[in-house]
Amino acid sequence: MEQKVIKSNILLPLIGASYRDEYTEYKRRNLRCSDAGVAADEGEKCEREIYYDMKIPDKKTSLTSGTLALFDDGRLHESDIRRRLRLVLRSPEKELYDEELGAKGKIDNTADIRKIGTEELKDVFKPGTIITDPILELKSVNEFSFQAMASSGIINQTYYDQIQYYLFLDKKKWAIVLIKNRNSSGAEKGALPFLEFIVLADLQRQVEIRAGLKTTKDCVDQNILPPRPFLRESTKCSYCRFKRICWPAKGEAPALVLEKEGKAPSQEILEGAMRVSAQISGEIAEKEQQLAEAKSVITRYFKATKKTELIVKNVKATYSVYRPQQLDKNALIELVSINEYVNISYPDKKLLEKAIADRKLDAGVLDAALKPGEKRATLRINVLKKKQGRLSKEDIKKESRKKRKEKRNANKKHNGSKKVAPSRASTTRNKGSIKKRKRVSKRG
Ligand code: SF4
Repeated sequence: MEQKVIKSNILLPLIGASYRDEYTEYKRRNLRCSDAGVAADEGEKCEREIYYDMKIPDKKTSLTSGTLALFDDGRLHESDIRRRLRLVLRSPEKELYDEELGAKGKIDNTADIRKIGTEELKDVFKPGTIITDPILELKSVNEFSFQAMASSGIINQTYYDQIQYYLFLDKKKWAIVLIKNRNSSGAEKGALPFLEFIVLADLQRQVEIRAGLKTTKDCVDQNILPPRPFLRESTKCSYCRFKRICWPAKGEAPALVLEKEGKAPSQEILEGAMRVSAQISGEIAEKEQQLAEAKSVITRYFKATKKTELIVKNVKATYSVYRPQQLDKNALIELVSINEYVNISYPDKKLLEKAIADRKLDAGVLDAALKPGEKRATLRINVLKKKQGRLSKEDIKKESRKKRKEKRNANKKHNGSKKVAPSRASTTRNKGSIKKRKRVSKRG
């Protein structure tokens, strides 16, 4: 059956406009609990973004109606879970405030331990521990994030940091986080599209979080633009509303044009060179494979016998296992500061990226250091048909050495027989002259 359907766009602009009209962009005056994780190692929040948001909020790019629809969707999911938990637990939301740093936030729910029971917590807390009320945190995520957390068994770092900050501010020892899959159509039939985790207070992380927030606050108060903690092409920067300010466009490298050089060889010479290249490449590949197979057999012998040396005819093989001393570049960075490390050591891009993530280096430094590389030419030779029964260069050399040796031996033999002959001849000659002399003396 053919449906009488026409794709249209009549109501969609109205819906899009309603999302935009409903949305109010509030000017941020203080830090938020959801900023936890700024300026801390492995933190997923950007202190520079917060700085921009507090100093030049009007420079942000506008949110699209698609993004606003997504936000609204998340908000609806979370408010629905909050409502359900409130009905069951009678647990109110709670506002939190960090007096020293001025950060504000709101806990979704708190729970009375008597209402949720402690049976499941026996393995979590040591026996005898007084189990206090937890805080409850609700999140709704897309299928991709949901599956990532389900398979790894850990939660998104931003959520972790936010919960740790709540635990610090509310002086609680633990929290329960409920994560809902917004695209639950892929869930197992009948299964709730939720993940549930217990998050225990992590005092060390709480110290790091507060130190990071303090650094960010100091930067804002003293008008110091924090360094970029993410790379230009990172996901974080791609979605950042301050990207245009933070990462101004870079001039593109001009495309390389091949330059004409010298005179092309004749067709005949070229064909010959191609044929030789193909033949030798094929032979080398074949020999390398044979060598790898032979080495694997010999290695198996050493492993099975625990021996370290083997001599067969005139071939000697030795096998050793050792741990080479290696430079711990991370330790070196810790010891000498990133700037000095870059000066004294080979600037490895991965390590520099780690230094950026650890807030030791502005990503702009690496970005500025990335330049188009030098021109390179690559020649690839493909073997179309494997030639069989041909000798490799090595074999040809061996063969000619063998032939030369055989020839030398043959010559020696031949020369040796020649040397014997003259001695015999001289003996004969001598005998003859003796006889002659005897005949002469008889006549005389
Ligand atoms: S573009 Fe990247 S580095 Fe710059 S403020 Fe945004 S998230 Fe931070």
